[in-house]
Amino acid sequence: MYVSHLECSKCGLHLEPHKIAQLCPTCGAPLLVRYDLAKVKASFSKDALARRKHNLWRYRELLPFQDETSIISLGEVMTPLIPLEKLARSLGATGLYLKDEGLNPGGTFKSRGAAMGVTCAAELGVKAIAMPTNGNAGAAWSIYCAKAGIDAYIVMPVEAPSITRSECAIAGAKLYLVNGLISDAGKIIARAVSKNKWTDASTLKEPYRIEGKKTMGLEIAEQLGWEVPDVILYPTGGGVGIIGIYKALLELREIGWIGDKMPRLVAVQSEGCAPIVKAWEEKQAASEFWPDSSTIAFGINVPKALGDFLVLDAVKQTGGCTIAVSDEEVLHDQAELARTEGLFICPEGAATLSAYKRLLNSGWIKSGEKTVLLNTGSGLKYPNTVRVDVPVLEPSEDIPG
Ligand SMILES: *Cc1c(COP(=O)(O)O)cnc(C)c1O
Ligand SMILES: [Zn+2]
Repeated sequence: MYVSHLECSKCGLHLEPHKIAQLCPTCGAPLLVRYDLAKVKASFSKDALARRKHNLWRYRELLPFQDETSIISLGEVMTPLIPLEKLARSLGATGLYLKDEGLNPGGTFKSRGAAMGVTCAAELGVKAIAMPTNGNAGAAWSIYCAKAGIDAYIVMPVEAPSITRSECAIAGAKLYLVNGLISDAGKIIARAVSKNKWTDASTLKEPYRIEGKKTMGLEIAEQLGWEVPDVILYPTGGGVGIIGIYKALLELREIGWIGDKMPRLVAVQSEGCAPIVKAWEEKQAASEFWPDSSTIAFGINVPKALGDFLVLDAVKQTGGCTIAVSDEEVLHDQAELARTEGLFICPEGAATLSAYKRLLNSGWIKSGEKTVLLNTGSGLKYPNTVRVDVPVLEPSEDIPG
């Protein structure tokens, strides 16, 4: 057992570990899990790790669950880090990789957070969780809760990708749609949680989900032979993924598994919803609510993130930047990647390719810099983003030409 305590990300308050926890009782900021990293360093080795199964549970010394028998697993895999040689060459660059989270259970990286969040919830005796979602998180938590026997109350915007509704429904979650945004769903959940004493599993309102998402950073470092890349581009909504990757790298540095170098972390948003980019450009420590947000990259349509200050800090500390791209570029680059590399990725993931192109053009990324694009989910979950215009033949007709 290596968890030492829970710590408030803002005021630094320490709380006892292994408890059902929500926001900091003093200041209302997110809580983070802290480990006795000296103890981890003394007893965890790269050799021991190399012998373990290729899934996120392999990093158990840096994870918050207490007992291996509590693990709620749906067959997670270590997702591939795919070199995009052909595409990079066409851009005059080398060293471009895509971490493909589309291979996770449920087709998105949200299953990492759900696997850890639900495992810890089950271990701590939680009977019901509730959460607002843009679709993918709700779907992931629904399937893990089904396996754990925990009730899941989910509220998502009517506009959320419709496949995620089916995923929640078939897994037996109690699903509601809201005529509004994820922020509106969040208000409904907050009222329901205080009335019913459910556990609030909203983004960063409990400390364990981020520990699951952190494993993306651990995997990237391991897959690159413990040499971190120069740049990581991440499609940022609530920001848990980028905060988690940063936390992973800090912990790896502390136990001496990577050197002092940090990858420059880039928070990629959509021009239709870019509160973190705006805050960064205005040199603010936190963002403001982005009114009338809209983008086809639905997972990053988050007008105000609870952990915005943590995202901005991760970007700043690593010498990174923020950037917003248009839906047009995203659709173009999603199709280009499928055509050149055979990868059908989600629009959120494609936004990182659009950002890469812009940053390469501006010289912020050098053509030889090792760069990882984080594809957060499979394109199969967004069939409607692809405009298909194909001829229909009668059985007697021939293919023209
Ligand atoms: C939720 C989601 C995001 C945003 O993730 P955060 O870590 O909350 O910023 C990006 N892409 C997809 C596909 C998502 O479902
Ligand atoms: Zn606090």
